[in-house]
Amino acid sequence: MHAKLSTNLKFFNACINYGDLWRARQLLDNIPDPDLRSWTVLISAYTKWGRPREAIGVYDELRSRNVDPDQLALLSVAKACASARDLRKAKEIHEDVIRLGFQSELVVGNALIDMFGKCKYSEGARKVFDDLRVKDVISWTCMCSCYVKCRLPREAIQVFSGMVLGGVRPNSVTLSSVLPACSDLKYLRLGREIHGHVIRKGMEDNVFVSSALVDMYASCSSIKKAELVFLNMPSPGRDVVLWNVVLSAYFSHGECEKALRMFDHMRNELVKLNHDSWNAVIGGCAQSGRTEQALELLAEMQHSGTKPNLITINSVLPACTHLESLRAGKEIHGFVFRHGFSMDTTVATALLFLYAKCGALELSSRVFNLIPTKDTVAWNTMIFANSMHGNGEEALFLFNEMLSSGLQPNAMTFTAVLSGCSHSQLVDEGLLIFHSMTKDHGVEPEAEHYSCVVDVLSRAGCLEEAYRFIQEMPIEPSASAWGALLAACKVYNNVDLGRIAANQLFEVEPQNPGNYVMLSNIFEASKLREEASKTRELMRARGITKLPGCSWLQVKNKTYSFVAGDKSNAQSDEIYKFLDEICEQMRVAGLLPNTDFVLQDLDTEEKEYSLCNHSEKLAVAFGILNLNGASTLTVFKNLRICGDCHNVIKFIAKTVGVRIIVRDSLRFHHFKDGLCSCKDFW
Ligand code: ZN
Ligand code: ZN
Repeated sequence: MHAKLSTNLKFFNACINYGDLWRARQLLDNIPDPDLRSWTVLISAYTKWGRPREAIGVYDELRSRNVDPDQLALLSVAKACASARDLRKAKEIHEDVIRLGFQSELVVGNALIDMFGKCKYSEGARKVFDDLRVKDVISWTCMCSCYVKCRLPREAIQVFSGMVLGGVRPNSVTLSSVLPACSDLKYLRLGREIHGHVIRKGMEDNVFVSSALVDMYASCSSIKKAELVFLNMPSPGRDVVLWNVVLSAYFSHGECEKALRMFDHMRNELVKLNHDSWNAVIGGCAQSGRTEQALELLAEMQHSGTKPNLITINSVLPACTHLESLRAGKEIHGFVFRHGFSMDTTVATALLFLYAKCGALELSSRVFNLIPTKDTVAWNTMIFANSMHGNGEEALFLFNEMLSSGLQPNAMTFTAVLSGCSHSQLVDEGLLIFHSMTKDHGVEPEAEHYSCVVDVLSRAGCLEEAYRFIQEMPIEPSASAWGALLAACKVYNNVDLGRIAANQLFEVEPQNPGNYVMLSNIFEASKLREEASKTRELMRARGITKLPGCSWLQVKNKTYSFVAGDKSNAQSDEIYKFLDEICEQMRVAGLLPNTDFVLQDLDTEEKEYSLCNHSEKLAVAFGILNLNGASTLTVFKNLRICGDCHNVIKFIAKTVGVRIIVRDSLRFHHFKDGLCSCKDFW
């Protein structure tokens, strides 16, 4: 009998070492009264082999047999609870420890602090910590680390200070535990002190300490120091997480070049790049305006076999919108489609906005129609897209669709639909919607909604009503309200209201050159030359210079930009020749260039010459010369399109027989057959 038991025990220990816990368990069940040690061995083994739940189960069984655990058994079950993150059980173990009188035992106490720390229960850990009569470096370290895990960095640092004051020497684990608290609180000074200690004690080669130092310096915006510590680390210690920390730190400090060099370095050193690495570099490039590069990296990411995730897509999409590149948009679209993100409402919404901003409204609606669950943002974006393309009717239609789908419109919805009404002169509809805001939808109109209504009235030529509306507004009229009125005064040649609106604007936004130019043009158009030059005088006296106009377009994946009078393009001669011919044809047709739009005091001939120089005209001419069989041409401008260019482009669209889309700072103009979608109001 005795011999058999001892054989069984030997076999039991062998199974434990081998990891055959099922057999070990069977053997233990065959032993009539197994000793506590064997139970404890089994508990530890389960935890060691990654099965902490079963370890806890064994402990429960032990307790149900009314066996009182000793310190060792409590230690092993505390480890199991820690690794299972089982707080309820952890509290039970703590009760057992108190009941059995072990609460002031150092080793048990340390294990319990660690257990509560892993369960993120700082109160429990603190109770154990305070009950300990003697504390060693492990107790302090576990307590400190528990506070860091519980996101209580201040408490962590208090514990750390208490430890140092108490004369207990921190070890490398303590330091790598407290450094994240310095990162959180941006305590660069304490971080530096710790770094000094690390150097004095020769702990620099410790990967955990160095990693924590790199992270601390990066968080405290001390990127140079982060870099230094990082580069001095033995390279096997630099794991990908740390590389990513430094990479992101470079990007967030605007050190793009360095970040990119670092990324190349990572690849050369064959660091196993993860999602975070790719997202950091793609997002970093996108945010710093290196959109093309972001797209290239996205392609490389796919090549490398790392599947882009939603974070990747969401970081790169807005950048493409910024680029206003239809090609980039289509690339992303294909990509979104292939990876099955097209059903994601956020991604699809970003995509449809991108298309709309690139001038491809048809593609926007195609994406929109495929969104399975359209949320408010998706609807708002689609309504807004139509509004900026001058499709007021469609914007209204979508608005009503949205309402009948049961979704509640918000402030943004009303801005979107109201601006659609103003661009399409839908006065009654616009007013109706505005009045329904509070009445039917409980949305309080804000400054931008009032401005929209002013715009609705102004564009439709109801200038007096617009002015009265501004005067009766319950809130302070914004610059955009007065701006809308001023722009309409130019269109409708209303000098009196123009003067009022402009004088208000000179108060609200004195630095905006557009207002001075607009008022001066209004005076010029009414032959009030003296007042016009006084306005320009005022502008000059205030030291305001006109923002240079700039237009750009893409031809064969390359972006070409033009400023007024630009002669830097290789095809400049042809561009000017083409424009001269167009001007001549227009003169013959009796469509003389409108000379009201030139700011400088020039005589008529000079004016005509300088009119031919505007950047949008140059860009359109360049686009026509490089059509390569395309039927549509899209040009972007940073400022509002000027009236003369608007006329000339209408004429070009008709003569050449192409569709020309110009997006200016306000909206899209679709030129076709000698007409523009804005119906000459913008
Ligand atoms: Zn122009
Ligand atoms: Zn237009």
